[in-house]
Amino acid sequence: MLLRPLAAVLALLAVAACDGSPSGPPESAAPVITVTGVTAGGSYTGSVSIGISVDRGSYSATLNGASFTGGTVTSPGSYTLQVAARNGTATSTASVPFTLTFAGSRVLIVRLLDLGDNESGGGGDAILLTDSTGSGLRHGLIDAGPQGVDASNPGYVLQRLRDLGVTRLDFVELTHAHADHYAGLAPVLNAIPTGWFVYNGQQRANIGGYQTVLSAAGARADSVVVPAAVTALPFGFGGGTLSVIPPLPTYLGNANASGDELNEGSLGTSLTRGSFRMFFTGDGEMEANARWRTGFAALTGNVTALKVGHHGANNAVFDDGFRGASAWLAHTAPRLAVISANGRSHPRQNALNAILGLPQTETYCTSVHGEIAIRIAENGQYAVTVQRNATLDCRPGSEATT
Ligand SMILES: [Zn+2]
Repeated sequence: MLLRPLAAVLALLAVAACDGSPSGPPESAAPVITVTGVTAGGSYTGSVSIGISVDRGSYSATLNGASFTGGTVTSPGSYTLQVAARNGTATSTASVPFTLTFAGSRVLIVRLLDLGDNESGGGGDAILLTDSTGSGLRHGLIDAGPQGVDASNPGYVLQRLRDLGVTRLDFVELTHAHADHYAGLAPVLNAIPTGWFVYNGQQRANIGGYQTVLSAAGARADSVVVPAAVTALPFGFGGGTLSVIPPLPTYLGNANASGDELNEGSLGTSLTRGSFRMFFTGDGEMEANARWRTGFAALTGNVTALKVGHHGANNAVFDDGFRGASAWLAHTAPRLAVISANGRSHPRQNALNAILGLPQTETYCTSVHGEIAIRIAENGQYAVTVQRNATLDCRPGSEATT
């Protein structure tokens, strides 16, 4: 990335201790602050190298409130550089707001849609992936639950996709056969042309809503795929990978599988773009986590971002399903954790506290932050934006007692 050499002497707010009287105190000259690399209101791409100096006296500086002595900034975002200089009793200050955007024109966006206060299954999932170039957009969808109390709005995801300009989906993935993950899918499949429909092959012959989704997929998608090995999904303009891991087979043939057993059959999905790596878990619990950790370690270990399993349930985090050690969190070691939850039954207290206690992990929840978007540059740099409450931490669900 070519940086334009920029040097600017900034407008100063100088307060010099000089009363103009020959009998007053000795004068101190106000320091002149010079900042190189950025100017107030500037917008830069890739990275900026910032230098700070004063012609006399001393200075201190902060960048977005954190102590800063100059250097290279590489993370996209909005910044304010504040410099305060002093020479004797004279002071000067400078404020330099600037923005830094991604290098390159291609950005991949992972959006966790907000399904609201949805009692169904802890809140449901709906995750839209969008790859962009200067000339277009391509999309894929992982799950589509209904929105609202009593799952009253199964058309929400379709409406949100339309608002975002989605006219085709390269793929639709259903992680597992629970309504909080599929009840919004039939409207999507019936309205938006779809390439692959990928699911775990579970049959629930007596569940009408599920059969409706499978029927819509069979009629509308170009291909219906049940992965038998790690399988690359068709998606985007190339660069990076998106791969789905075949499901834990244990319970897939059980027509009377319990809720937890259905969760354990969740498809796991691995996304890479540059240095950015993300793992999506569906509602996988202890058995799924253990299998992903030991059998697919290269796809699941030390990720940049983790879509936390099962809406932040304890059984998707802890080795014993309730509290204590978490080999899964130690293995995935995410720098970014995102949770789709209803804020009522989920996230659970113990799971959320364990995640919030991870050093160097930023955590976002749809229940607090609304829709969550992760924007990822070709080189893997990323930035998170949220719909609301950006400065608040995630909270356990209001009815989560453990
Ligand atoms: Zn769920």
